[in-house]
Amino acid sequence: MMKKGIYIHIPFCQTKCPYCDFYSMRGTDEKKDAYLDALNSEIFSHKNIVADTIYLGGGTPSVFGKDRLKKLIENAKNQFDFSDGEITVEVNPSSCDEELIETLKSVGVNRISIGLQSAIDEERKFLGRHSGIEKVKESIEICQKYGITNISIDVMLGVPEQTIKSLERTLEFAVSSGAKHISAYILKIEENTLFYRRKDTLPLPDEDTVCDMYEFVCDYLEKNNFHQYEISNFSKENYESRHNLKYWKSEEYLGLGPAAHSYLNGKRFYHSRSFEEYLKNPTAYIPDGDGGSFDEFAMLKLRLTEGILKKEIAENFCEEKFDELLKKSDRFIRMKLMDSDGEFLKFTKQGFLLSNTILSEII
Ligand code: SF4
Repeated sequence: MMKKGIYIHIPFCQTKCPYCDFYSMRGTDEKKDAYLDALNSEIFSHKNIVADTIYLGGGTPSVFGKDRLKKLIENAKNQFDFSDGEITVEVNPSSCDEELIETLKSVGVNRISIGLQSAIDEERKFLGRHSGIEKVKESIEICQKYGITNISIDVMLGVPEQTIKSLERTLEFAVSSGAKHISAYILKIEENTLFYRRKDTLPLPDEDTVCDMYEFVCDYLEKNNFHQYEISNFSKENYESRHNLKYWKSEEYLGLGPAAHSYLNGKRFYHSRSFEEYLKNPTAYIPDGDGGSFDEFAMLKLRLTEGILKKEIAENFCEEKFDELLKKSDRFIRMKLMDSDGEFLKFTKQGFLLSNTILSEII
């Protein structure tokens, strides 16, 4: 039986960043205690799941408090028969200290994801980041001191005031920090955020510059031995995110907490974005249909640089599906936005930038 991924959402943050539309809020100790109880109920309601990845994301897991995180991870490991694999915790430098990392290490956390976004303090302030770059450096060093060397760093492209030059400094910082994995996301101005309300006055780089930034990141990281394995993700050899690969390879996972999505036993389902509802009933799932269709598989798999293989389509669906898709992609292959030798189909670097539009045409 294929082992599952477990995602645990921690919906608490110190403050709300102006660009963020993730489900998160400020939390008191009472709220956090009540949330831990609800999460435990949800964890213990699931039987016979064996997991090899656990990912605590948010929100900001590091503001949940080390003792709650310890209990939560111990319970999840026991209930999901976790014996060996990857346990990732997202950490914000402003809530990272030695005690936290020592505790995480003691319960088996072996991967830390740090939200750097930018190494330029002015850009960080724009993004609502509280700590300066020195605090980020210190957090990375603490992780390394306690033996957690599998560190992932998030970098953001297209942020206010950013230039290729300032992006280069951010990448220099990320690469020289010793991180093994770098995620580089293009800032998207989401509705219901402060940035959305201020979008007409924000000093954002124009679209062409953002495309140049993306290509710059791909080239820069490649030169520094980070291979790109997904649209936005780069890693040193064998340091890909095992948990996130499950999403892109259409493998099954369980998402715990409000707003979390799951794909389990062939079905997709999710929790509403309501903290109060979750506390009342932590196992109230909203059905989201069957998972595992060819379209879904192809959309997710094409996010990976390896793309889709004729062989795997023949094994999981039927070979004709691949041939059909190849035919529809012909125009984009000729435009060098996609690539194929007849046995695989994948996006090129330029194609990744237009992948949403292309996917809506071919799938
Ligand atoms: S810390 Fe992360 S989750 Fe929290 S508000 Fe900022 S971007 Fe959103």
